[in-house]
Amino acid sequence: MNSILLDAINKADTIAISGHIRPDGDCVGSTTALYYYIKENFQDKKVCFILDKFPDSVARCIERPVSEELDEADLFVSMDSSSKDRLGDAVQLFEKSKVKFVIDHHKTNSNFGDINVVEPSASSCAEVLYELLEADKISRRVATSIYIGIIHDTGVFKYSATSSRTMNIAGELMDKGLDTAYLIDESFYSKSYKQNMLLARGLTKAVLLKDIPVIYTVISADDLCEFEASSMDTDGIVEQLRLTKGVETAVFIRQDGEALYKVSLRCKTGVVDVSEISIKHGGGGHKMAAGFSVEGSCDYVINTVISELRELFAEKKHNK
Ligand code: 5GP
Ligand code: MN
Repeated sequence: MNSILLDAINKADTIAISGHIRPDGDCVGSTTALYYYIKENFQDKKVCFILDKFPDSVARCIERPVSEELDEADLFVSMDSSSKDRLGDAVQLFEKSKVKFVIDHHKTNSNFGDINVVEPSASSCAEVLYELLEADKISRRVATSIYIGIIHDTGVFKYSATSSRTMNIAGELMDKGLDTAYLIDESFYSKSYKQNMLLARGLTKAVLLKDIPVIYTVISADDLCEFEASSMDTDGIVEQLRLTKGVETAVFIRQDGEALYKVSLRCKTGVVDVSEISIKHGGGGHKMAAGFSVEGSCDYVINTVISELRELFAEKKHNK
């Protein structure tokens, strides 16, 4: 079997692989899977790997590739990034590359490549990648990366984008000899002391609204400072809020600068499409999980997001 991706790899001597800024488990999993797949199956290719620091949880299970230097590339593969500006500094090499290949699963993807494989119904970018590779040429190391991508974007096979195909792929990956219980615990559930303290802080400060089924919380720069934590240590807080009984949408707001906030939105059943809000603010994501950054005071950010959610829920009621 030859896929459109393998054809493009075959034709290229120099290849660059990148993903979105502040990469999550799916982004790290997808990009490293492709890097190791090429290194193991196409030894003569020169591969440049460009990605920000891996989250600690993922770095415990996936080794960072040793990148080769490239000034320009025959092929640039962008993974899990919904737009060009999410590539960060890698965008310079992207612009200089002969063939731009986009692999993604964000429905907000702007199809910014020459070739775009964007599957909004796929659980993760890692799942989209799996379908483009030859299963019998996937090693244990490549399988580990794909598996980690899938478990991070599905909340360990829980979110609604998890399909029977996702589960079948996970099974095929397991057959490569993965210690899945270890990978799930180590890379998904295991938390450092400061991550647990921030989770506790986020839950204590959470506000449950009375008029719409929404809960929100804020982690300030002072909260991060108190526990000597970084922005990556807040992963998982919004997922915990989302589990609150009666809640449809959870909002997590993190202070990233003096007047800069990162907003994460998560839904339980998809009554509303939160990507409608993130797109308004120049962000992206999916119907059930979206995010964006916004400038302003904390009160401004809370009031803006809550009033936009009120509008969304009101529209929904009206259209019923
Ligand atoms: P998270 O809330 O975990 O950061 O992101 C949830 C979803 O929204 C992910 O699919 C992520 O890629 C997307 N997302 C989060 N922040 C941004 C952003 O600033 N821009 C874009 N385009 N997508 C974002
Ligand atoms: Mn993803």
